[in-house]
Amino acid sequence: MGAPDLLRHLCGAGFTVALAEGGGIRVAPSASLTDAHRQAIRDHRAELLSLLATWPDADPDRWCWPHSEAMNGAELELYAKRVQQFTRCGIRADAAEAMADRLVIRDRDQDDRRACLECASYRPGRCGNYRAARLGANEVGREMAAMLQRCPGFQLTR
Ligand code: SF4
Repeated sequence: MGAPDLLRHLCGAGFTVALAEGGGIRVAPSASLTDAHRQAIRDHRAELLSLLATWPDADPDRWCWPHSEAMNGAELELYAKRVQQFTRCGIRADAAEAMADRLVIRDRDQDDRRACLECASYRPGRCGNYRAARLGANEVGREMAAMLQRCPGFQLTR
């Protein structure tokens, strides 16, 4: 796959790809990139940089983060997905929105901590992977579910 195909593939998969300040390549949401994506971006870095520099429509979010505080398209999409996911877990809509807002900031800060609410093993009030998480029991309270942490059992919900 050449750089144009890679760019189309990433955009089609919901990523925003743009030139970063300082001359790099910005892909958002970076947390959703697979190892294969990262390798392909590294392999085509020079070609991607020149393509992005000559493709003015490549970044429809040019007025959004990181150029301003406004959420860009990828952030908005992820925000909506998270609000839905958290409300399905029994979180009130306003609290789900506040949590999703916190996670936008977390992602922008490239903070690698995650919350149980984002984990594939989380069910309301309990963890389905508590042994890998090194917990003594499967109960997970509301406060813990929203706490940012580095859990060895974490698996991102798809
Ligand atoms: S595996 Fe870890 S992050 Fe996932 S629900 Fe259990 S305690 Fe939370």
